[in-house]
Amino acid sequence: MDKREFLKKGAILFISASGVVRHLERSTTASASTTSASTTQKPAVPGYDPASHYYGMGIDVDRCIGCGRCVEACTVENDVPREPSYARTWVERYVIKNDKSVVVDRIETGEGGERKFKEVVDEADILRTFFIPKLCNHCANPPCVQVCPVGATFSTEDGAVIVDEERCIGCRYCIQACPYGARFLNPRTKTADKCTFCYHRVVKGMQPACVEVCPTQARIFGDLRSKASRLVRFQRVNKIHVLKPHLNTEPKVYYADLDGEVR
Ligand code: SF4
Ligand code: SF4
Repeated sequence: MDKREFLKKGAILFISASGVVRHLERSTTASASTTSASTTQKPAVPGYDPASHYYGMGIDVDRCIGCGRCVEACTVENDVPREPSYARTWVERYVIKNDKSVVVDRIETGEGGERKFKEVVDEADILRTFFIPKLCNHCANPPCVQVCPVGATFSTEDGAVIVDEERCIGCRYCIQACPYGARFLNPRTKTADKCTFCYHRVVKGMQPACVEVCPTQARIFGDLRSKASRLVRFQRVNKIHVLKPHLNTEPKVYYADLDGEVR
């Protein structure tokens, strides 16, 4: 069995066998302020069976208040560089103006925690605004995986798309291939970086950091293989959309009440 096959077959073995373990160790240290459990548990979880799970995330758009706590939690948990161009998850503000034109920008957080927007729109011109949390869609048919020349990015059996930073040569092909702008080159590691669904937490039965801190429960994480999961119920009771469905990437981030203006 070659290393890649080994990684794909055993997500937990992968954690202890690759750069993810280093990342995980960083994360558990960085996350001390957001979760005490992750600082005390060992990364590997005996008995975890990736074959019996298949993960996805729901976004309840009407619930998102654009507070940005999810972004901050992700930054701390995953040691994401704080420059605005680097993000594993972000929140877009959509402003629909009275003349029906649309302004889209990302929420940024100031040093004092206050929200900032790049675009200033006169309140009198605003018809409505809403917020759209975004992240890697953990596509079931991921173009990023298809283009990687060294097999450094791949899908786990339980439905996450992961980067093995030991293998990644930083060629940026996956960054170009992702139609959702979900990847960036980490300036410290010089490797591709993106949301992992907080895989190091999920295999321990925890929620991704962004889900855990959301005060309105706008983010719903769950196992698509479990009929009892909140995510499956969320899909059942809402009209669900995914981003850019025409690309056939089969995203596993599901949006309820998605406005037609969102792209
Ligand atoms: Fe693969 Fe890394 Fe290149 Fe992305 S940047 S395509 S993960 S080698
Ligand atoms: Fe790959 Fe982008 Fe799809 Fe994530 S959203 S799996 S990075 S193509």
